[in-house]
Amino acid sequence: MEPNGDDSARGTGSGGPGARRELSFEELLAQLDGPDQVDLVPDGPATHAVSTSVDDDITAEDGLGDLDLDGMLADMAAAPTAEARAAVRGQALRLFESITNDVDADRGSAPAGGSPPPVVPHDTADGALFTAFDPDHLAVTIDDTTDAGIVQLIIAGGGYGLTAATLGVPVADVRTRFLAFSDGNATVDPHEPHVVVLSTLLAAKPKLRLLCDRMRAPDLDISLPQAAACEHFLEVYPEFWGNLAAKNCTIVFNSSRADSRGGGLYEPGDRVIHMSRLSVTPPGAFVRLLVHETGHALFESTLLDDHPMPPALGTGTVAHLASEYDPLPSGAYETKDLHRDGHEIRQLQVYWDRMSSHAKAFYHAWLILRGHRQHLLCLDLWRDPKGNRLSPEQRRSYQADKFDEFCAEVFMQYALGDLRPYLVTLLADARVEDTVKRAWRNAWRVLEVVATPLLGPRHD
Ligand SMILES: [Zn+2]
Repeated sequence: MEPNGDDSARGTGSGGPGARRELSFEELLAQLDGPDQVDLVPDGPATHAVSTSVDDDITAEDGLGDLDLDGMLADMAAAPTAEARAAVRGQALRLFESITNDVDADRGSAPAGGSPPPVVPHDTADGALFTAFDPDHLAVTIDDTTDAGIVQLIIAGGGYGLTAATLGVPVADVRTRFLAFSDGNATVDPHEPHVVVLSTLLAAKPKLRLLCDRMRAPDLDISLPQAAACEHFLEVYPEFWGNLAAKNCTIVFNSSRADSRGGGLYEPGDRVIHMSRLSVTPPGAFVRLLVHETGHALFESTLLDDHPMPPALGTGTVAHLASEYDPLPSGAYETKDLHRDGHEIRQLQVYWDRMSSHAKAFYHAWLILRGHRQHLLCLDLWRDPKGNRLSPEQRRSYQADKFDEFCAEVFMQYALGDLRPYLVTLLADARVEDTVKRAWRNAWRVLEVVATPLLGPRHD
């Protein structure tokens, strides 16, 4: 994830959606079904209504193959004529038609029966505790991962009646007790203050050692609760670590490379997941940030067959592409490079045509759900190292704006066990539109088929 990341590498090909109000996906579909006529070949004898039906394919109707069309477009784009603009517009419409084919197909499945508890609880899921424990107002200086772990457990435990302003003394007390145990000369008194925090901290110590062994990093310095959460996740899915390794994927904790990228970053070039030092991020949020990055590394890459999605598709701007090539007003000069734009749209078409049926189904689901973003599942992931809130609303925009982030976030929710109960409730809710339910069923089916083998069987 990289909510404040640099998008400069994402290239061109689409242009922005413009200043006009962005139409919903369904509104765009309705336009396609409407009476608007499109002249793909302005000098030809016929005009062609663009339909969402495969059988009405524009080029097939003309008897023109793709190569013929490309050659014709190249010729036309040699001069910035109105005909060339119309041809590029036709290409964009054809692409939009492709990505909307079968959009209403219901080939999904639904989670049935009871839902096991989340793999790691996420007690701060709704963000309500953030205000009480705003990291900028903590009455304690976090000198090391011991302090950090204690603060995290107080937050994850619901606060124990404390706030950011009052947890200084309890943190110091627990620290003193914890260090006494480390010296081997203390026993837990079940009636001592903060016994739950202390006991949880002590129970996490062997988990950090296991994680160090697993990562072959004996000096790994992350807090005990965060280490325990990560190790527990990997123990619940015993095959997952091997599947990461099979992809040559590695994890670097305490990496500053992720600091300005939301606290977590996956770099596909060398297949490295970078995780920032996140001092007071509660363990439930921390492990979700990590699993989100594995979602990029494993789920997204598998779904897209290791071919990153072009930005115009990945941000959904392709849906509005054709309107950028509407006929120019009389007397206006062409400002676009139609030859280049036509080529780029063609590349988008090639990419789309090569996507798997599962990838297309998941993309369809995203197109629908981003237009009904109130029905995305959005969990609080606390705060990144630059102080940016990773609030539920931030997660909502994040998923709605970018397909790759939808892939990573939903994979995380699926893996942790958050998505199942959410969908059981949503699918049973008579107030939720059928189109939303259908999209989620289709997404769930893809997760079952593609994500489940990556995780391996769950062992609780
Ligand atoms: Zn991401």
